[in-house]
Amino acid sequence: MPKEKIIAIITGPSAVGKTSIAIGVLKKMKKFRPSTTYTTRPVRQESSEDKIMLHINEDQFRQLIDNGDLIEWAQVYGNFYGTSKEALLETLKKYHVLLNIDVQGAKIIKKKFPKNISIFILPEKIEDIKQRLATRKKMPTAIRKRRLDAAKEEIDQAKYFDYRITNYDNRLEESIEKIVAILKKYQ
Ligand code: 5GP
Repeated sequence: MPKEKIIAIITGPSAVGKTSIAIGVLKKMKKFRPSTTYTTRPVRQESSEDKIMLHINEDQFRQLIDNGDLIEWAQVYGNFYGTSKEALLETLKKYHVLLNIDVQGAKIIKKKFPKNISIFILPEKIEDIKQRLATRKKMPTAIRKRRLDAAKEEIDQAKYFDYRITNYDNRLEESIEKIVAILKKYQ
């Protein structure tokens, strides 16, 4: 095992299945741990998170930015998300880290941590994202539309990342296995 730990980044558009994939990968890869994210997004009832999500308001988030407490942050579909610097650096002392973050945050981490491996998750077709967003019943229609529009632009960014994995509908396990196989080469 290399002395220095690595950061694996899972990125891609909203509702492509990143969180389910990250949960599955973390279950199989015990040397990888998730990060802690601060977010202004309200708590989501209908699905589980892959990491510790600390829900705060916008003033508190701005305070974290001003204090330099976030290693990266981004405004994603109207909410703020940022990775806790302290939690990340602490985890990296003992474990590899798996980050599930948006494309903007992923680019920042790529620059700040040369020892990274980045994986972009693609949908088979944009219709899959539309359908998955439709299952998020509590999400207002305008936000769903915003996420879908953003998804199209984000997909164009796939070329900037090391690996591209298509998450075929109803084939989650296959995507998880592909990522596990990639990460095994680096851990
Ligand atoms: P969701 O609200 O669906 O959990 O997440 C929305 C988007 O924000 C997803 O693309 C997710 O990967 C991203 N995201 C979650 N946590 C973070 C974070 O700490 N930093 C950044 N930059 N993006 C995040």
